[in-house]
Amino acid sequence: MQCGRQMFSSAMRLFLRWFRLCLKRSRSRVPRQLRDLFSYNRLLLKSLYFNSLTNSDLIMDCLFEPVFWLVDHITRWFGVVFVCLVVVLTSSILMIAYFCLLPLVLRTYSPAWITWHLCYGHWNLVMIVFNYYKATKTSPGSPPQMKCDMPAVSVCKKCITPKPARTHHCGICNSCILKMDHHCPWLNNCVGHFNHRYFFCFCLSMTLGCLYCSISGRNMFVEAYNAIEHWKSLDVEKQGVPVTGVGLLIGILPPGSMTGQSYYQTPPPSFTFRERMYHKSVIYMWVLTSTVALALGGLTVWHAVLISRGETSIERLTNSKETKRLQKKGKVFRNPFNYGRLNNWKLFFGVEKRSHWLTRVLLPSGHAPYGDGLTWDFSPRRKDMMAI
Ligand SMILES: [Zn+2]
Ligand SMILES: [Zn+2]
Repeated sequence: MQCGRQMFSSAMRLFLRWFRLCLKRSRSRVPRQLRDLFSYNRLLLKSLYFNSLTNSDLIMDCLFEPVFWLVDHITRWFGVVFVCLVVVLTSSILMIAYFCLLPLVLRTYSPAWITWHLCYGHWNLVMIVFNYYKATKTSPGSPPQMKCDMPAVSVCKKCITPKPARTHHCGICNSCILKMDHHCPWLNNCVGHFNHRYFFCFCLSMTLGCLYCSISGRNMFVEAYNAIEHWKSLDVEKQGVPVTGVGLLIGILPPGSMTGQSYYQTPPPSFTFRERMYHKSVIYMWVLTSTVALALGGLTVWHAVLISRGETSIERLTNSKETKRLQKKGKVFRNPFNYGRLNNWKLFFGVEKRSHWLTRVLLPSGHAPYGDGLTWDFSPRRKDMMAI
């Protein structure tokens, strides 16, 4: 959302500059009286609203404030719809997995494979439900409103309160968020310091779950697709299309039934309602899980790269700008929150000892993240953040 706003503001600023340039060029052609009138009105407007901080950026922000307000409010209300959509779609896939996929696994696989499918599938389900619930219900964290000794790097223009490092204002939540990553409409919540881990674990477990359904249900999908195609071809012929040699070729007519002349075939046996629903459900599950696995998989990989670098999505934008700015001066930008790849992951998951990789990463865990989100250790490339 922040990124969209910045891009929109930059585009508007560019447009304003272009418009000014055009005005300057055409000024020589405008009659003197009109020019005087324009100058007079400009002076009048400035004398009424002049402020030492007024510039084109501020004017553009003020003019488009209603648009931003509308977008923020629509996103806030759409958040509820999106959360319902996630719950409904996940439940539908779960029903199909239990009623279509699981009976097939139990019927055809060996006991060892059945055990693996049961254990993995249920672990994956628990991780998805737990992390999604925690990500939506856990507050990302906001700076205190009361006066305190918290170190601040700036003041929020909207909340008029000091902002600690890595804190940003969210227009949709209408508050400052500690270590803000982005506002997620699928969670109807901001992703910040206290729920960043739940968000990432949800994305990862959902991607794994979709991949699991997609890979396990691939053969079922191919069978269901072929069955539906076959059923469609039968339906076409049932409507009275003359059947010639083609019927023999695709195996609809028994051999020896051809007399060399076209005739109308008797109604072929069709699928029952239950069979049709079964095939359609399998196709729906495979298409949905494969699409989500691709889209969410890309997002998860992107977030994994950011976590490895010790950045949030917002910091990626600001840091890349800062890198380019310093590069022009011949200097190198170093992210103060990057403690080394492994340490970044340990801090992110809250791993303090070896057993935590199992209890805090592989199993559902409700532990609080490292630090309070208000103060940060500015030691770049610090080794051994935690004794392991
Ligand atoms: Zn704020
Ligand atoms: Zn938000």
